Amino acid sequence: MSHLYLHIPFCKQACHYCDFHFSTSQKNRKEILQAMMKELELRKHSLSGKTLETIYFGGGTPSQLSSDELKFILDEIDTHFSIAEKAEITLEANPDDLSNSYLKSLRHTPVNRLSIGIQSFRDEDLKLMNRAHTAKEAESVVMRAQDAGFANLTVDLIYGIPGLDESAWKKNLDRINELDVPHLSSYCLTVEPKTAFAQFVKSGKIAPVDDELASEHFRQLIQFAKENEFEHYEISNFAKKDFVAKHNSSYWFGESYLGIGPSAHSFDGSVRRWNVSNNMKYLNAISIGEKTFEEEVLTENERYNEYVMTHLRTMWGISSKELKEKFPNNYFEHFTIESEKWIASEDLKNNADVFILTEKGKLIADRIASDLFEV
Ligand code: SF4
Repeated sequence: MSHLYLHIPFCKQACHYCDFHFSTSQKNRKEILQAMMKELELRKHSLSGKTLETIYFGGGTPSQLSSDELKFILDEIDTHFSIAEKAEITLEANPDDLSNSYLKSLRHTPVNRLSIGIQSFRDEDLKLMNRAHTAKEAESVVMRAQDAGFANLTVDLIYGIPGLDESAWKKNLDRINELDVPHLSSYCLTVEPKTAFAQFVKSGKIAPVDDELASEHFRQLIQFAKENEFEHYEISNFAKKDFVAKHNSSYWFGESYLGIGPSAHSFDGSVRRWNVSNNMKYLNAISIGEKTFEEEVLTENERYNEYVMTHLRTMWGISSKELKEKFPNNYFEHFTIESEKWIASEDLKNNADVFILTEKGKLIADRIASDLFEV
């Protein structure tokens, strides 16, 4: 089983909180897409003999691609890889790009899942974050995508936004339910250094994220999931039956994936590789036949820490059996000792030798994981 990620490094405008790699210039767009196809060919051996179960167009803004560009890329993928008959093929899309004609043209491509970056149904939040769409577009896009035939879709929402109080956050969540959205990814706003938001907080233009309010939003989110038959299958991800994201789950299960395009990451079970986060440097490297990535071989400690971090965040938790199979016994002993206090504080529970976060524990998942790490 393997997975392919393509990073489309273009955006219409820069969101104020974003620290992903993208460019608002469309200069060299054709050349970069061609370079990505060259990279695909050069690195296809890393997944040789494996069938692609998922293909994920992330970014940046993949919905900036025309349906012809998407078809061209998917045809190229098809010439180099074997693609599973029921492969999940996801396109990240912004509401302002999803016109009815674009949605219709997407239906003529193999894309079968949309990840729509709504983030909020309120104009004041969208303006504050400098999103390119309006609340009206956020409202209409889900129904229009469903009408066009995209039953498998997910929506992103951000909580912890300054000015978003509990009742406004509840209304955003209620819209998810009213629109019959089958999968939700929801993240707390984080103010990353070097973003416009970091500047705004520094200059006092906006208030920093209120941790107490963000925790309350997260509690509301958990409650919302319970009341509306969403499985809370990963800290930030919620799915109705049969709508768990296969591509994202592959990251949490440590499966191998190949990442193509500027800033894309790859993993083969022991080596992590990451491409240069600069469109021109990427283009130049491909044109002169140089490597586009740096790499590191994970040590046993790093593999264990990553296993703990990713599995702890999911509803499937950490199984003692798997820990013992994957790592030398001292890791299991370390885990057993360190987990005791979190079990005693009821942040972690042991369900027939599978360790899973409790609702209380989900609020401090990172703290618990780092405590269980081997350093
Ligand atoms: S659209 Fe996405 S990738 Fe582009 S700036 Fe906004 S958050 Fe970042």
